[in-house]
Amino acid sequence: MKVTRRDLLVWSAGAAAGLMVTPVPWKLLDDISIWSQNWGWIPQPSHGPVDVKQSFCTLCPRGCGIKVRMAGGWPVGIAGSATHPVNRGALCPLAFGAHQLNWDPKRLRAVRHHGNPASWEDARAAFAKCCNEGPVVIVDGHPGRAASVVLEKFAVNRGGQYRVVDSTETDALRPYEKWSGVPASELGYDLENAQTIVSFGTPLLDGWGIPGQFTRLWAEQAAGQNDPQLRLIQVESELSRTAARAWQWVPIHAGAESALASGIARVLLEEKLVAARGPVPLMTLAEVAIQTGLSPDAIRDLTRSIMAQRPVVAVANDADPAIAALNVLLGAVGAPGGIVRRSKSSTLQVVADSVIPNARAVLLDSTVPWDFVPKTDAEVFRFAAWDAGLSKADWLLPAPGFLEDLTDIPSAPSLPVDTYAVAPNLVRAPHPVQNAAQFLASVNSSLPTVEQIIHARCDNLFRSRAGRLSGLQPTPVTSFASCQKLEEELRNGGVWMAEPLTESFRCELKQWPDPFVSSRPEGWSTSWTSGVLPPLASKLYQESNLRDARERRNA
Ligand code: SF4
Repeated sequence: MKVTRRDLLVWSAGAAAGLMVTPVPWKLLDDISIWSQNWGWIPQPSHGPVDVKQSFCTLCPRGCGIKVRMAGGWPVGIAGSATHPVNRGALCPLAFGAHQLNWDPKRLRAVRHHGNPASWEDARAAFAKCCNEGPVVIVDGHPGRAASVVLEKFAVNRGGQYRVVDSTETDALRPYEKWSGVPASELGYDLENAQTIVSFGTPLLDGWGIPGQFTRLWAEQAAGQNDPQLRLIQVESELSRTAARAWQWVPIHAGAESALASGIARVLLEEKLVAARGPVPLMTLAEVAIQTGLSPDAIRDLTRSIMAQRPVVAVANDADPAIAALNVLLGAVGAPGGIVRRSKSSTLQVVADSVIPNARAVLLDSTVPWDFVPKTDAEVFRFAAWDAGLSKADWLLPAPGFLEDLTDIPSAPSLPVDTYAVAPNLVRAPHPVQNAAQFLASVNSSLPTVEQIIHARCDNLFRSRAGRLSGLQPTPVTSFASCQKLEEELRNGGVWMAEPLTESFRCELKQWPDPFVSSRPEGWSTSWTSGVLPPLASKLYQESNLRDARERRNA
């Protein structure tokens, strides 16, 4: 029998229609679902009472308030907490799927030494041996926590050193520390009282600082207005999302931010637009024009436009000292609407970027970004909840994952006021884990525990009788009858907020800083430090163009 092309088409159409009608494929699909549900290695959704707990996201130092939906004692959903005084319900995409991270295939489940299986006893013995042989350096990625106190105490007791890895926001505040003596960890941005913000490439409307914080301010004070109460001038080489929405976009050559800050400073001084006298930048306006691609007249116009509505503050994306020096000249340091001091409780910290000489061991806390490589030839002990590969650490030590550890949440790096919160451990890790503080306590039993330090901090807040606890109804600390009640509220999702400090501080600039080249990587997920992404963030967010990735903008 001859089979024509038409016969084949008719047969295929009939087969397709038959497949739709017959129950066989649907039954097969159903059976596969049932089999796969019975595979032991797949995490099963829990059955049991459904509950919602208030807590905090601990993936980065911003500590956003979250609501955790729990089923049978396991987190099954994350949403923003509307009662949190800063993020007020907004979250970044990393948090929405954060509870899934605990089941990530890259979860570090056992101690590893040079890639081989080892035990906690082996790791402890090796670390204790190092401690007896020489100084130990401990690196912390979220300084200011109760755990940070334990890390610092251990290092200092052993004659070693405690170092910190800066968040982007703290990094940008470092130059003021040098010129004023006020620790960068005590400084923040009073953007609510600024009237003009000059952003040097900072993604203010695209993920900078605490989610929702600046976008809300922008929506209330500027969005859609020709002459807004809050002007955002975005200096950036590309039309980023922030640049596209800003009051004014100033396109300049990539990497010329430092030069433009110097050019603006020169015009401010030449035209006597600021009261303060300061060191004059060495760069001439003609040189600035060549570097930035703006004409000298355009730089003069921009400077006048910046000064038209004050207070003015410049916001940098990195530790560029020229941008910080511009703020000093603008009188924006230690003044409302500028860089303000939010507390007086911390000390100067050593940043971990520089070479670590003469150490016998370096211990990296799990909060240290995965891609951070200490400049040392010492033995490296690295705590991590996830093994994102290519680690140069000698030891990998499994740390608690998301919501598996009790921690406190000190003020987020960009905030102008002090805050304090406590994130309880809502779930247990499915395998043996330890945080760095517990590990160090097993080597030095005289160290206080995180629990004890949190309790002491709550006690200090209660005794200070200062500030208030936010929630649906803000409650002054003076209204709490006991420290126990205050601590209970904090452990149930309350956030303590201090009153803003009103006093100013001196910030002196003796000479205009040298040119600066930024080495900070920029990307929408740079605040996520653990090297793995929740499935929601990796698929939906990266591929759906919800946020411009730099590569895409450059494409
Ligand atoms: S900004 Fe940080 S703390 Fe806030 S939701 Fe995102 S990862 Fe969590």
